[in-house]
Amino acid sequence: MSGRHEKDKGVNVQVLLRCRPFSEDELRSNAPQVVTCNDYQREVAVSQNIAGKHIDRVFTFDKVFGPLAQQKDLYEQAVVPIVNEVLEGFNCTIFAYGQTGTGKTYTMEGECKRGKSGPNGELPSEAGVIPRAVQQIFDTLESQNAEYSVKVTFLELYNEEITDLLAPEEISRIASEEKQKKQLPLMEDGKGGVLVRGLEEEIVASATEIFTLLERGSAKRRTAETLLNKQSSRSHSLFSITIHIKEATPEGEELIKCGKLNLVDLAGSENISRSGAREGRAREAGEINKSLLTLGRVINALVEHLGHVPYRDSKLTRLLRDSLGGRTKTCIIATVSPAVHCLEETLSTLDYACRAKNIKNKPEVNQKMMKSTLIKDLYGEIERLKAEVYATREKNGVYIPKERYYQEESERKAMADQIEQMGVLIETRQKQSEEWRERHDARVRQCSDLSSKLCATEKNLNQTIKLLTCTEEELTKCRYGLKERDFIISEQRKAENALAHQACVLRSDLEKALQDNASLFQKIGREDKLSSDNRSVVNNFRGQLSQQIVSLCNLVSTSISQQNEHLQCVQELGHSFLDVHHKSLKELKKKLSASRAVYASHIEAMQNVVSLHNASSIAGLEEISSLASSSTQSIKDYLESEAGQAASIFDDLQSSLSTHQGEVALFAREMRQRFLVSSEKRKEVSEYMSGFLDKILEQCKSLENHAVQADAIQMKNITDFQEAYEEQSKSNAEKLVADINNLVCNHLLLQKELVDARLVDLRETATGNKAFLDVHVSSMECVSTDAKRKWQEFSMQADDGAKDIADYSAAKHCRLESLLQQCVSTAGSAFEHWQKTHDSVNNMGNNHVSELVLLTRNVSESIEQHDAEVDSARVTAEQDVAKNSEDILKRIDSVSDVERGSVSKILDAVKAHANVLETFREDHSGKSAAIEDRAQETFEQRYMDYESTGTTPVRIEPDVPSKGTIESTSSNANGKSSRGISRK
Ligand code: ADP
Ligand code: MG
Repeated sequence: MSGRHEKDKGVNVQVLLRCRPFSEDELRSNAPQVVTCNDYQREVAVSQNIAGKHIDRVFTFDKVFGPLAQQKDLYEQAVVPIVNEVLEGFNCTIFAYGQTGTGKTYTMEGECKRGKSGPNGELPSEAGVIPRAVQQIFDTLESQNAEYSVKVTFLELYNEEITDLLAPEEISRIASEEKQKKQLPLMEDGKGGVLVRGLEEEIVASATEIFTLLERGSAKRRTAETLLNKQSSRSHSLFSITIHIKEATPEGEELIKCGKLNLVDLAGSENISRSGAREGRAREAGEINKSLLTLGRVINALVEHLGHVPYRDSKLTRLLRDSLGGRTKTCIIATVSPAVHCLEETLSTLDYACRAKNIKNKPEVNQKMMKSTLIKDLYGEIERLKAEVYATREKNGVYIPKERYYQEESERKAMADQIEQMGVLIETRQKQSEEWRERHDARVRQCSDLSSKLCATEKNLNQTIKLLTCTEEELTKCRYGLKERDFIISEQRKAENALAHQACVLRSDLEKALQDNASLFQKIGREDKLSSDNRSVVNNFRGQLSQQIVSLCNLVSTSISQQNEHLQCVQELGHSFLDVHHKSLKELKKKLSASRAVYASHIEAMQNVVSLHNASSIAGLEEISSLASSSTQSIKDYLESEAGQAASIFDDLQSSLSTHQGEVALFAREMRQRFLVSSEKRKEVSEYMSGFLDKILEQCKSLENHAVQADAIQMKNITDFQEAYEEQSKSNAEKLVADINNLVCNHLLLQKELVDARLVDLRETATGNKAFLDVHVSSMECVSTDAKRKWQEFSMQADDGAKDIADYSAAKHCRLESLLQQCVSTAGSAFEHWQKTHDSVNNMGNNHVSELVLLTRNVSESIEQHDAEVDSARVTAEQDVAKNSEDILKRIDSVSDVERGSVSKILDAVKAHANVLETFREDHSGKSAAIEDRAQETFEQRYMDYESTGTTPVRIEPDVPSKGTIESTSSNANGKSSRGISRK
């Protein structure tokens, strides 16, 4: 069901857009760009400001190829899948639509001159869809190892006339002469298709042949162009490729799969409105664009689903009827220019292409035919054609008057139209019935929806009823609970009344206790007064104690002054000791400074010696270093000069080698080219020979035909003559019997005339034959002489080429040898030079070594001398130092004696100070003991203090409730509780 549905829906026509780059003219005139392509988002944007009006539109297509897209990109992305489908057995059509000069022909045919093709038969990069498709078809079929045949046709449709672009020269010459009569007619093929009668079908055996065919077709189109004023922009060209592929079924039957690819280069779309509505004006210019206009109207009808599609109104739409809304897969390549001056046409093309996207086709695979049926069909076809040929030759077919033929033809057309309309009617009826069925289905679906909803509602109702019964049970339970609570509340009220009575008794007890409390607090006040008296006695005692403490302080201060005196004495002693010490130290310092000076002088002498030594050693070292640097410099210089020479030698060598290489490469390339040229020549000659043979064969055939014809004609003439003669002689004999006498002369004369006339006839035909034969013979001669000349030319060229090659190779050989010798000599010179360098470097090394030995000897001598000097200096310094140290020791002994005396004096002073301190201590202890006694007496015997227990309560006036309030609160509580219950 769904499969059928999908098939009914169909496949949309694929629409691609290609925008060409700016042409050189446009670049020169700096034309602004108005079209921008976004290949990835498959969008084309057109934007332009014209006279304040801003145009900004975006179109989306199945694929978009911008100015940078190459022929190969377009082919691989868009056409490869289509060709694969053709090989699967589909019929496919590709249209190129657009304004003149936007690249339709470039896209379909491209620029594929044979000369531009690659070395291994690869297509040139400019080749368009047609050569690439043929190449792909052959590649695929060859790789499948299939048995196949490929046929192509190439026709042009101009002004509703079909011209065969592949027809042989002679026929087309006749055709152009008798153009009005001999255009190719369209015929229904009896299976719903249309074919062109008498169209040349060329069988192609390899992809390379396509170049010849395209060149032939385009050449014919070109010649026509000059004759017919730019015809190509107003003519359509249709290139068809039909493929038959043999397949074997598992049962061993042979099937033929058939696929067809139509490649249509439409006329320039300028002056055609988007829907073809401007037909009236275009018609003024004749029927030139009828096909294009009809194509527009057909697309319009298909997009808007109009009942009648005007396929029959033009030959193009009749030919390609199946590609538009039929069983063929269709692709439209719309071409536009990016420049501003084409803006209007660009917009029209984009609109047209956008509309075409909505056409739907229902592609079907062509039925595979059994080989036997195909052969049977072909036999039938041959029979039919034979009969036709026979009828034409013998003129014994059916002849009807012209008027009747036209009448019948128009009747036939009318009937065909009627049939078409009926078909449309049936389609609409079918659509209607389908609609009705859909509506019925919708109703059934609605019904089922409603019944399911009803079920759901019933379920809901049952649930609600259950809920209600539950709720009622809960209500009865609640009522029982309320009654229980009422009983509990009445019991509580009785207990509260008893409590109020008890409260009254307690209140009278409380009043009595309060009176006792007041008398107790009066007693506490009295006791407080006594304790304040006691506090004043204690204060007096404090005054006396402070006076005694003052006297004690005075005593202490006098003792302190005594101590100070002692300390001063000690200080003086210390001073005297310090002075002595200072003097001895000064002397010591002087001695030390003298010894230091001596030391310094010694050290200076040492330093001088050392510096002398250093200077000499530095000079020696400098000499060494300068020598070394000079020698290294000389070595460096020498090496640099040598390196330069070596580099130049090596450069020489390298350059000669590279020239060598270059020459060899050039030589190889040239050889290859020459070989290519010679092979090309050979190919040409073989082609020419085959053409020549073909021509000869043709000529032979025509000669044979002519001979047969001539024979037949002569035979016929002779029999005619015999018959006529017999008839005549018979009648004449009868007449002779009657008028034998007077008519003898007449008879003789008549007979003579008749014979003469016949003889003249015969002679004429004979001469005609002879002339014909002569012409043929002369053409044969021409052809053979031509061929001979070509042969000679070729052989001479070949000879020349061979000689050339031989000379060239000899020259190259000589050059190579000289180059090699040069190389050898360069290498020899380099070797000699290298040896010299080696020797000189050795000499320099020797010199260097001897100089260095001398220098080291000098240095060792100076170092020995230096050692001796240093030793003597050290001995004198040691002696001086010993003497000085003895002096210093003596001085220190005397100083220590003086220090001892002063220290004993200090000890005596300290003893006296200790005695004074002892007496002071005794006085102070006596005084403090007296104070202690006094305090004891005061506190133990005179002063008594009150000790608080901390248990005495603070006096407060309690808030005793009256009897009335107690009673009223009890009654209130009763009332409230009863109300609370009712609320609960
Ligand atoms: P049409 O057939 O639509 O009138 P043509 O195919 O003759 O246009 O193209 C006109 C010119 O533009 C030709 O010279 C062609 O080489 C060039 N041209 C068209 N499209 C392209 C393209 N995509 N890349 C390069 N050149 C192109
Ligand atoms: Mg063109």
